[in-house]
Amino acid sequence: MTEQHSSAASGSPFDDLAATVQVAEPLASHTWLGVGGAAEYFCEPISVESLAAIVSRCHEQSIKLRVVGGGSNILASSDGVAAMVVSLAAPAFCGITIEGQTVRVGAGAKLVHLVSETVQAGLSGLEDLVGIPGTVGGGLVGNAAAHGSNLGQRVHSVTVMLPDGSTEERVREDIAFASGWSSLDGVIVLAARFELDSDDPGRLTKRMQKQWIVERSEQPSGTRAVAMMFKDPVGTTAESLISQAGCRDLCVGGASVYATHANYVVAEAGCPSSDVKELLEKVRGVVRERLGVELSPRIRVW
Ligand SMILES: Cc1cc2nc3c(=O)[nH]c(=O)nc-3n(C[C@H](O)[C@H](O)[C@H](O)COP(=O)(O)OP(=O)(O)OC[C@H]3O[C@@H](n4cnc5c(N)ncnc54)[C@H](O)[C@@H]3O)c2cc1C
Repeated sequence: MTEQHSSAASGSPFDDLAATVQVAEPLASHTWLGVGGAAEYFCEPISVESLAAIVSRCHEQSIKLRVVGGGSNILASSDGVAAMVVSLAAPAFCGITIEGQTVRVGAGAKLVHLVSETVQAGLSGLEDLVGIPGTVGGGLVGNAAAHGSNLGQRVHSVTVMLPDGSTEERVREDIAFASGWSSLDGVIVLAARFELDSDDPGRLTKRMQKQWIVERSEQPSGTRAVAMMFKDPVGTTAESLISQAGCRDLCVGGASVYATHANYVVAEAGCPSSDVKELLEKVRGVVRERLGVELSPRIRVW
């Protein structure tokens, strides 16, 4: 592990807080790719107060803080991650409540649960996003998108935690959403409120099921050790550019391009994160050289 904080050896800087903190928690089991070393510190806080205590301690002691959602868009370094990694998987962060056309959801809730609950309640606006893995928090930070819809479109407001542990509400007008990006990067997303439209639950369910089938047919099957490599450039898809550039068969060590859906990387068990990183650079370089297009990485490298 790089840049270890010296206090780890003599007890963690979080010992006096009412939170369970793991030291040297393997991150492979928290990410889809299943590669990578350990997080220096890891915590699943059970309440906002407990999270705030962790966050402000990190701020005071200059310990880097990262959030893992579903881990479907993270490549963790095999050298380890010198940071406190928090997961908002506890029930306090995963609730979904629906009142009329207003939906309040915790950042740790799975996006697929949010979509299916809103569809069952006869609310439209999120059904196109049904097959996207991960959490609402991760989806908001990266503005998850599919079939012409994106998560940011239906946001009314987002509750965030700042580095000092305080919370604030950000309304839609104060948040920028773009392709594969939002201005929520850099804060902790705690919860969001969406305003949706009323529709017929039967019709919505059919539409959701159709999108689910389409989305699954566009994803690698038979393995979970995958990640989406690049964002789609305006007017085209990363997959078509990668194919046109002849990168479908590229591999580096245990990491290879998934030939059928070429914007995915697949990692073999035990593959070092550097193989995945090198493969991404290789694909990017070939696309640049042959097609003159600069692909922008989607996956977050830790
Ligand atoms: C098979 C497959 C299919 C995919 N299909 C799509 C698709 O159709 N469309 C699409 O847009 N993406 C797709 N993705 C990419 C990925 O699923 C999305 O980007 C997803 O929204 C990531 O959510 P997550 O919870 O897994 O985030 P993570 O991978 O856990 O994290 C991603 C980033 O968000 C940050 N983050 C997570 N939660 C929070 C929080 N609460 N507060 C602050 N920061 C947070 C993390 O720190 C990290 O920087 C796909 C990925 C895979 C593997």
